[in-house]
Amino acid sequence: MEHVRSYYAASANPAPRRAPLEGEATADVCVIGGGIAGCSTALHLAERGYRVVLLEGKRIAWGASGRSGGQAIFGFAAGQDKLEAQVGKETARRMFDVSVEALDLLKDRVARHSIDCDLNWGQLHVAIKPRHETELKAWREELAERYGYDSLRWLARDELRQLLDTERYLGGLYDSRSGHLHPLHYTLGLARAAESPGAPSTKQRNPQAQPREPSSCNRHGAGAAKKSRLLQPKWKSRAKLRARIRQLEL
Ligand SMILES: Cc1cc2nc3c(=O)[nH]c(=O)nc-3n(C[C@H](O)[C@H](O)[C@H](O)COP(=O)(O)OP(=O)(O)OC[C@H]3O[C@@H](n4cnc5c(N)ncnc54)[C@H](O)[C@@H]3O)c2cc1C
Repeated sequence: MEHVRSYYAASANPAPRRAPLEGEATADVCVIGGGIAGCSTALHLAERGYRVVLLEGKRIAWGASGRSGGQAIFGFAAGQDKLEAQVGKETARRMFDVSVEALDLLKDRVARHSIDCDLNWGQLHVAIKPRHETELKAWREELAERYGYDSLRWLARDELRQLLDTERYLGGLYDSRSGHLHPLHYTLGLARAAESPGAPSTKQRNPQAQPREPSSCNRHGAGAAKKSRLLQPKWKSRAKLRARIRQLEL
């Protein structure tokens, strides 16, 4: 199974093919799915000294993670107002903080594991109408006051033109903390890092994650690693999954 045809697949670094799972394997945790979520979870666990088996049904980074837009931006596409209306102010605030923490985690991981993924920092929300300028400036104030997010800077037309050679925009809100990367390289890099994460930070074991592809697993663990805890993002019972994660003291 090859990665779906895309710019990312065409420009990807060669990635090793991992052997499929034969018979049974024993691990502390079995992670299902080798996208960003699964590979990141496997790395996180391996860094803490857990033995992990990661089962991917097709190829590591085969799903959304290997073909996304690669934008690493603070917050959520829905916007904080919508989130607040749906989950309340406190939870919306926590979600926002998690999104910012994720950017720091990304930066740290790329540096610590030397993940070559064309990571570039800097992102712009641009204004093409005076109304957009007013809205973007108000948004910047709101994010600074209510969420303590203060890395946004308004670039007036002339300053913006020094970055982008176009007269199309009246200005833009520049965020130095957000950026862009090659999502296929990044996900493959996470898998590689999980295989040899270095010394464990909390447990004295021989940490490692073993990605297995193609190897699939159902939600009851059939065909998976033996005597392991199972982390599968698409479990219907999210409460059960949260309880498992709490048990692991992540
Ligand atoms: C076109 C597009 C553009 C996007 N752009 C952005 C963006 O710019 N910025 C951003 O932050 N997000 C973006 N996203 C969203 C982002 O890509 C996803 O939120 C993220 O990649 C999800 O990661 P994941 O690991 O949960 O899922 P996936 O990457 O889909 O990984 C799931 C993996 O699990 C495997 N799998 C499933 N079931 C089993 C099973 N039973 N056994 C074994 N393996 C199994 C699949 O084969 C797959 O490889 C975009 C998404 C799309 C589709």
